[in-house]
Amino acid sequence: MSYLKNKYDIIVVGAGHAGCEAAIAAAKLGSKVLLATLNVDNIALMPCNPAVGGPAKSTLVREIDALGGVMGEAADATYIQMKMLNSSKGPAVRALRAQSDKRQYMDYMRNIIENNENIYLRQACITDLIVENGKVTGAIDEFGIEFRARAVVLTTGTSLNGKIFVGLRSYSAGRLGEKAAYGLSESLQKYGIQIKKLKTGTPPRVDKRTIDYSKMQIQPGDENLHFYSFKPNRPIRPQVPCYLTRTNEETHAIIKANLDKSPMFQGLIQGVGPRYCPSIEDKIVRFSENPSHHIFIEPEGLGTYEVYIQGFSSSLPADVQVKMLRTLPGLENAHVIKPAYAVEYDYVPAVQTTHSLMSKNIQGLFFGGQINGTSGYEEAAAQGLIAGINAVNYLNNSEMLELSRSSSYIGTLIDDLVTKDIQDPYRMLTSRSEYRLLLRQDNADIRLTPIGKKFGLIDDEQFKVFTNKQKAIEQEMERIKDVKIPATDEINLILAKYDEHLERGIRVAEFLKRPNVNYTLLKEIDEGAKNIPFDVAEQVEILTKYEGYLKRQESQVKEAGKLDKFKIPEDIDYSKIDHISSETKDKLSKIRPKTLAQASRIGGVKPADISILMVMLERHQIAKL
Ligand SMILES: Cc1cc2nc3c(=O)[nH]c(=O)nc-3n(C[C@H](O)[C@H](O)[C@H](O)COP(=O)(O)OP(=O)(O)OC[C@H]3O[C@@H](n4cnc5c(N)ncnc54)[C@H](O)[C@@H]3O)c2cc1C
Repeated sequence: MSYLKNKYDIIVVGAGHAGCEAAIAAAKLGSKVLLATLNVDNIALMPCNPAVGGPAKSTLVREIDALGGVMGEAADATYIQMKMLNSSKGPAVRALRAQSDKRQYMDYMRNIIENNENIYLRQACITDLIVENGKVTGAIDEFGIEFRARAVVLTTGTSLNGKIFVGLRSYSAGRLGEKAAYGLSESLQKYGIQIKKLKTGTPPRVDKRTIDYSKMQIQPGDENLHFYSFKPNRPIRPQVPCYLTRTNEETHAIIKANLDKSPMFQGLIQGVGPRYCPSIEDKIVRFSENPSHHIFIEPEGLGTYEVYIQGFSSSLPADVQVKMLRTLPGLENAHVIKPAYAVEYDYVPAVQTTHSLMSKNIQGLFFGGQINGTSGYEEAAAQGLIAGINAVNYLNNSEMLELSRSSSYIGTLIDDLVTKDIQDPYRMLTSRSEYRLLLRQDNADIRLTPIGKKFGLIDDEQFKVFTNKQKAIEQEMERIKDVKIPATDEINLILAKYDEHLERGIRVAEFLKRPNVNYTLLKEIDEGAKNIPFDVAEQVEILTKYEGYLKRQESQVKEAGKLDKFKIPEDIDYSKIDHISSETKDKLSKIRPKTLAQASRIGGVKPADISILMVMLERHQIAKL
């Protein structure tokens, strides 16, 4: 049966965080997109914590925004709390975190999708791909309906062959209340794509009317608001607090006494779980010396009594979960609305895709999000955006958007995924980037907006906002080099409030390098600083204070760029190269890096192997001359 034959340019499978970005980006670029998803009422669902951002993830969200994606503006439009984490630390680790109203976030995204005339939304379970002559040409749903398109983006999250565990009971589901997707994994395997299993988990949800918040520590949002999107005029919304409580000896004793009922500890789950987001039972076993763990109580939205118990992810039986919960101060009478559970699912190791996120086996087939072995909404959205843009580039036979590690966390994330054999759900961390001083949330627009413009997702209005800001930064950098602050008594009186003093006059640029000096201070003593907007002042301050570190990191980028210049021929036969181990040959043959720099980042490839490859490539170049 053929349905709307050839109507679509691109099929996006899944309307989670990756699928939404992919579909919206491709549609904005002019492609006709079929967005097929298991349940249209669950578009952009947050199946785990009701929050966007946090360490490293906030940089991803700002990068998505700078490239023309939508996650940042959706988070800004639906937050119920905004907080800048690590605000007293260096700019490389500062991170914005938005507590979101889950329902409003979903509605916001659905609204964008439904109002885009290029997106055709459809509730369907895709069970098979159509592949002809090594190229994808469509997809088939569970009723046998064929959808034709020249590119397909798979963003299936935790649904493929998903199995949920609550204690020793398990059943087929991708997320609580949503069926698992069968057929597609087998279809991919039929076309030579390898599938593996991972696991993740989520904590219980509790009715807030059964919580005694007086026994907990309040966690308010920031008074000074920051936003994700670089677009001006972000909405000011009422904020609600989160709360902090802690586990104790009794909680730990109940967990330890019930480990025989844990599917993880009993070996029922084969998939590896997220290392940086362990279940409470994992934490208690792995960090047994720790007498207490923080548990945050986070509201799920303004229109619901449901609250999320952050840090209490579990796959123990539902009755044990209630006992554990009721040991936490303030939760003695907690009523559980949804139990915690673990889910095991199929993913497609991303070493089988290129940096454009297109399959190495099947042309026109792209992957984005949790299906690539990642965990997290932001990681998913970032990949979805790139996959969506590149699906359009593939159709147009134009240059693929492949971001370098030194340009962005998105580039780092994708490079890690496609060059390293990931063993556990990959989460973005600042430590994953060797260039984290350069890749900050505050300068994502400077790094990526020109790229977003080039690839067509940044409109003229947004680009103008960007160029105006750039101009203002340049002017202010010049101004502070010239203007001098005199060492008058009047000025020293003001400076005393900030523990500062001037013996003699000093140029603003020099003065700004001092740790206590910032624009709040400057605005009191320097007329020219008074009207500098926050985002401009922030850049000028960082560029001035950290000038030495930034220059050092820029020269590291240049140094690393040298290996990037060594292109590896696509048809290279690694088995014929002497003096490198067969394990290294296998890895190189499987991943097929495009440059020596990529080869050097493959786990297990040693510096000595790179030297041998370099010599060989140089000889190859000379032979071609
Ligand atoms: C139980 C659970 C716990 C989690 N815990 C954490 C955590 O602790 N930390 C963390 O960072 N992240 C966690 N996550 C992960 C986070 O939810 C995901 O990383 C993120 O949502 C992935 O986005 P995605 O777009 O790749 O997939 P999803 O948001 O899962 O979206 C996938 C979409 O694909 C659709 N779909 C799937 N198969 C098909 C098909 N065959 N045909 C049509 N549509 C299909 C689904 O309906 C869904 O809309 C958890 C997820 C779950 C389910």
